[in-house]
Amino acid sequence: MSLKALLKTRYGKGFRTREAIEAHHQRSFARFRRAVMPRSPFYADYADTPLSDLPRMTKQTLMAHFTAINTCGIDREKAFEIALRSEQSRDFSPMIGDVSVGLSTGTSGQRGLFLATPKERKLWAAILAGRFWPNLARPQRVAFFMRADNALYRTLGNPLLRFEFFDLLDPFDTHLPRLQALAPTVLIAPASMLKVLAIAQNSGQIALSPKRVISVAETLSPEDRDIAKQAFNCQIDEVYQATEGVLAFTCQEGNLHLNEAWMRIERDIIDPQTGAFCPIIHDFTRESLLLLNYRLNDVLIPNPDPCPCGSACMRIARIEGREDDALWWDGPNGAKMVSAEAIRTTIACLPSPITDYRVIEKDKHLTIWLEDAAPESETELRHAFAALAARLDVNLPALTIRNGLPAEPDFKRRRIRVERQPRHCE
Ligand SMILES: [Zn+2]
Repeated sequence: MSLKALLKTRYGKGFRTREAIEAHHQRSFARFRRAVMPRSPFYADYADTPLSDLPRMTKQTLMAHFTAINTCGIDREKAFEIALRSEQSRDFSPMIGDVSVGLSTGTSGQRGLFLATPKERKLWAAILAGRFWPNLARPQRVAFFMRADNALYRTLGNPLLRFEFFDLLDPFDTHLPRLQALAPTVLIAPASMLKVLAIAQNSGQIALSPKRVISVAETLSPEDRDIAKQAFNCQIDEVYQATEGVLAFTCQEGNLHLNEAWMRIERDIIDPQTGAFCPIIHDFTRESLLLLNYRLNDVLIPNPDPCPCGSACMRIARIEGREDDALWWDGPNGAKMVSAEAIRTTIACLPSPITDYRVIEKDKHLTIWLEDAAPESETELRHAFAALAARLDVNLPALTIRNGLPAEPDFKRRRIRVERQPRHCE
């Protein structure tokens, strides 16, 4: 592990001013332009180009130019072949040289490749351990639930650390005895899995007492946070981590901050009213597969208030989910974004409580699935949604309400989603 990065994350004061962040970015990019960009056939000629003038990248264009962009001389087809073989065999040890190769399917179904060199893996481990390791002097046991293993995440293993991987594709019941035997001090899982584990804990199927619980890989809703917090009796931390790296994580105060120590993050604002934006990242710690002027389609809601922790890194109120999942309702003054938060709050505040729900918008038609709903829930829900639309000055779309939840094997599925062709907002 990179000791310097670990200590800095754990004990460093961080950036107290915007000027300090700017200066850090200036220095980091000066080095990056000199030492890294010339090694990428794609970027070699761009070493003096301002960041915002570089070719705009998305997951598609990054994959299209993968072979020329990466600095390791790795061919895209070969990387795909290795990553696919790992997925099928569930043996995730193969690497190309010392570079680990991973595959991301994402919610859009589009496949992406990512690379990590030993240096990148160490940095990742150091930052996360620095921030979230409960006690540096004590051995820790980490349970990590994820869709696919990758050498990236094994870096954390050392004599002080027992690290066990739980494959999300394994049947849920097989996890419980293993998890109980491990008795993790740190539990890391996607939000939906945390919720299921919290229910298992509440029903007495498991009795864990983790010191840290960290939600990764998908948006943690306030409802799920509360359920997990109660079940495990500790604060739920959040790491907003995509294939593209660690974009944000919670501070000591439990608030999300963008990871501006690693990357420069610009905002493509899609809803001026809330300031909701899609991040455009320039990562100066990523030296294998360069990420420059790279636009993500996640929607982030900023929080302009300073955080009591003192960090000047931009504070995020929440991650709204994918841009393609934001609801847009028509109104007299044009279409407006209806945030997932507004939908969640509306359902959470219904007079008759609901155990769980799904909201799916398709072709301007809204279908809401309710679990364990009372007979009066449907009327209450219609009233509450009509009131929400009136407040936002938009028209409520056609609304169908169903009992029970749709069959849903995929843990990546969110409660609120929109099914449509990808929308381009540039
Ligand atoms: Zn903070």
